[in-house]
Amino acid sequence: MKREIIIAKNSGFCFGVKRAVDTASNKNIQEKMYTLGPIIHNNDVVSKLEESNVFSIELSKIDSLNESDTIIIRSHGVSKAVMDLLNSKNLNIVDATCPYVTNIHKKVHDYHNQGYSILIVGDKNHPEVVGINGWCSNEAIITKDGSDLETAEIPKKLCVVSQTTEKQENWQKVLSILIKTSKELVALNTICSATEVRQKNAMVLSKKVDLMIVIGGKHSSNTTKLFEICKENCNNTLLIENETELSIDFLKNTDIRIIGITAGASTPDWIINQVVDKIKLAEKAE
Ligand code: SF4
Repeated sequence: MKREIIIAKNSGFCFGVKRAVDTASNKNIQEKMYTLGPIIHNNDVVSKLEESNVFSIELSKIDSLNESDTIIIRSHGVSKAVMDLLNSKNLNIVDATCPYVTNIHKKVHDYHNQGYSILIVGDKNHPEVVGINGWCSNEAIITKDGSDLETAEIPKKLCVVSQTTEKQENWQKVLSILIKTSKELVALNTICSATEVRQKNAMVLSKKVDLMIVIGGKHSSNTTKLFEICKENCNNTLLIENETELSIDFLKNTDIRIIGITAGASTPDWIINQVVDKIKLAEKAE
């Protein structure tokens, strides 16, 4: 039976991650390169890059590199100190920091130099937040949702930014607290719309399909969220990491006519395409 397969718009990589992965992938295969930490939390992508001579290296091992070795900065970006260190080693730095994140670095650096204290709404252990904090001498106040700010002493002159993947709800909660105490408040909402747009498109699509397939890591929070949204609208929603988890028998033996597909932020296009191919294979096997 011929089925219609619809891939949700904005599935998979956001602009910044795609740019970083493309930077690491589109190179001469002979040339050895390094990424500072895994370019993305997807083992398939990391293994594929290793096959083309791109290896992840941690900052603690940076001394093992030779002058002029190429190191790629991933989309999360890094602190000023890390950038200075890489420069001091005379490495060939390819900066694939997402331009939206670089913009936050610049703003935080400028306002910090103008005497503002910096507050970041986000997860203090997330590499992006660690990087941003490194553009204001690691002096930022970091809060997830403001619940720890109620009793804290808030600086009078404050610039607030957010992790790009933070929830609007947390941003609003924090601002509602700061507004009561700050004398001079600069609020730069740096939340990126990529996640929200991906979720909205998945929601719209899941309302009109017989089967919705969400592709992504089982431990990935953005993939789990996509799954929950789709499941609310389409009871027949599957969460798979790749095409090997999709059974041809399952597809063959149903009267599913329209299949929707979306994918989490760490899922490359080629994994999405392999799922599509598997569905087509099931059609042929009928
Ligand atoms: S800022 Fe947006 S586009 Fe850039 S890496 Fe983060 S989520 Fe992706």
